[in-house]
Amino acid sequence: EEIRDIEQVKELIKSYPDFPSEGVLFRDIFPIFQNPSALDCLLNNLVEQALEFAKKQGSIKIDAVVGLDARGFLFGPTLALKLQAKFVPVRKVGKLPGQTIKFTYVKEYGQDVMEIQADAILKDEKVLIVDDLLATGGTCSAAENLVSQLGATVVLNQFVIELSDLKGRDLLTAPIYSILSFG
Ligand code: AMP
Repeated sequence: EEIRDIEQVKELIKSYPDFPSEGVLFRDIFPIFQNPSALDCLLNNLVEQALEFAKKQGSIKIDAVVGLDARGFLFGPTLALKLQAKFVPVRKVGKLPGQTIKFTYVKEYGQDVMEIQADAILKDEKVLIVDDLLATGGTCSAAENLVSQLGATVVLNQFVIELSDLKGRDLLTAPIYSILSFG
């Protein structure tokens, strides 16, 4: 099926109740990747939204796109290429070699530690954070913290999907753009 608009892309997202744990309605974006025209439409929307943001801010130059482990890695490099920025991963602890900095955050059950390579982002750089989905905001908030620990500034948090009921926005410092929203 040829996909032409973002509402058709939304219809491809599959929802799985109680995955990976009870009470979670998991939104699966991988069906989008099975359809080249859908993927093209989604990536174009992401890029256009980011460019529009940069223009609105007085044509600012975004220096780095930070993608969040793991599905942020599906979008980050493409976005970075189009913005002529570098791509930098934020990963779950223990995956990145060399000197890193860490941030620990509390989740519903237990805690999680996110990590970034210390030399990947420079002081005063402007950073766009991208992930597939904003839920409680804990993961992205950890990434915001890591970027600011390195003396850089998060100018935009960008998501493919926002779960608006979970109010992840309230936890984040920088502006938030999302392409699709579920209540
Ligand atoms: P949070 O830290 O609560 O905002 O959760 C965001 C991270 O967890 C993202 O990296 C998502 O990929 C993943 N995630 C959380 N909730 C869901 C969900 N309902 N469906 C798919 N992925 C989710």
